Amino acid sequence: MSSSPRDVKIGGLASTRLQPDLPAESLLSDLVPFASPYEADPELKTFLHRTANLLCDWIGGAASGQPLPTVWAQPDATPGPQGADVDVLLSDLQSLMEGAFQPSHPGSLAHLDPPPLTASIAADLIAAGLNNNLLAEELSPSLTLLEQQLVRWFCDRLGLPGSAGGALTSGGTLSNLMALVVARDRLSDASGVVLCSEDAHVSLSKAMRVMGLGGPALIRIPVDANGSLCLTQAEECLSRLQRQGRQCLCVVATAGTTVRGAVDPIPALASLCRRFDIWLHVDAAIGGVFALSQQTADLVPGLGEADSITINPQKLLGITKASSMLLVREANQLHDTFSTGLPYMDDASAGYHGGEIGLQGTRPAEVLKLWFGLRQLGVPGITRVLSSALERASTFKQRLDLDRLVCQPGSLHLVAFHPSSRVSRDGSSWTLALRQALMQEGFMLSRPLYAGCHHLKSVWGNPHTTVAHIDHLAHCINRFER
Ligand SMILES: *Cc1c(COP(=O)(O)O)cnc(C)c1O
Repeated sequence: MSSSPRDVKIGGLASTRLQPDLPAESLLSDLVPFASPYEADPELKTFLHRTANLLCDWIGGAASGQPLPTVWAQPDATPGPQGADVDVLLSDLQSLMEGAFQPSHPGSLAHLDPPPLTASIAADLIAAGLNNNLLAEELSPSLTLLEQQLVRWFCDRLGLPGSAGGALTSGGTLSNLMALVVARDRLSDASGVVLCSEDAHVSLSKAMRVMGLGGPALIRIPVDANGSLCLTQAEECLSRLQRQGRQCLCVVATAGTTVRGAVDPIPALASLCRRFDIWLHVDAAIGGVFALSQQTADLVPGLGEADSITINPQKLLGITKASSMLLVREANQLHDTFSTGLPYMDDASAGYHGGEIGLQGTRPAEVLKLWFGLRQLGVPGITRVLSSALERASTFKQRLDLDRLVCQPGSLHLVAFHPSSRVSRDGSSWTLALRQALMQEGFMLSRPLYAGCHHLKSVWGNPHTTVAHIDHLAHCINRFER
């Protein structure tokens, strides 16, 4: 190397900056398309511009299409004998996009998958370009710090104490699993049961399996008419377990159940858990975000009393997938449970690396799209997203003909209903036929099996759905005959 190197300080390590005018000769440069480190690569720019245009067209054309595509040309899945040029790649990409679910369609109301925020889309792209790794501080210095800072903000907003901490994870399933593993870790005996409501999320069953605890160890307590876990039954169950000398390793409260958006009585469950000295995990994958705004925080009271909380910003706020987080009351519990030491890394300034506080090793910088999206919204924007979702849900509920339909009460932005027995004795085929009829009108609802009968479920987190859409949808439902 002929040039004179210049030292730059990065996080205590002295590194050498190469002169930008070194010859761009590389063994691979002509063969494999990696962007030049010596100039703003024109090929990369073209590629990004053209793919960005495709994406803008796809989102911009959402309202004139359907939420779910019916025909598209699936491109080749495997690498060909030769690398594809940009025109082929983009044409393949376009075909694939034509077969994608369209969350930005105003009639996309089926699931907890809203359209993505502009800043979150861009941040996901940047995260890919940075290609940093949250496994270790030296692979993601600023992003590791950002994750710690943002987790701190979430802990404060949700009312957890100063000792709290957490980690971003690739989904609520993983957050819930990690919570149960941490809860079990503080007990001397690795067996035991977990209590949750009968409407709790399926990811808990999966977690039990992974932990080797088996299905019967997940005790499902009935819910009341509002879909909330029945407190007296939970108390009876805990007393019974105590008399039998059986260990309960965790009670899981749900803040926002998946079909009807019901919220369990968290403050009362917290005092029950304190009395029995049992870990309280709150699965707030859906409802947790409502605690971020003072205007809606009353919908999910008591989160700050939990030992751990799952929260999924991907489900309502428009943060691109995956965006979930596990928060714990005592930050060091994550490290105690998951750290193995990282012998191939230097020490981290926070005392641990991002790969030592959870199940994942290599982690993408999912914090970037969360941070950027939340910054774009600001606190008032967050409030608008939350309260407008609630408004749309309540407008829709008001429009439904309750002489013909049975609506399942819940307190968030989900509305699930089924036909009354006067309208149909066969709810299964009625909901199936209505779902198909609504699809023809550009509305996508889902059809969950809940409490033994098929429902239609609508989720009101789509900011593009207007009152006119709601009117039309309710009209189609109220008039539906088969
Ligand atoms: C969606 C959901 C989960 C699982 O989250 P994923 O990100 O899909 O893994 C857990 N609990 C509840 C209540 C949910 O609605």
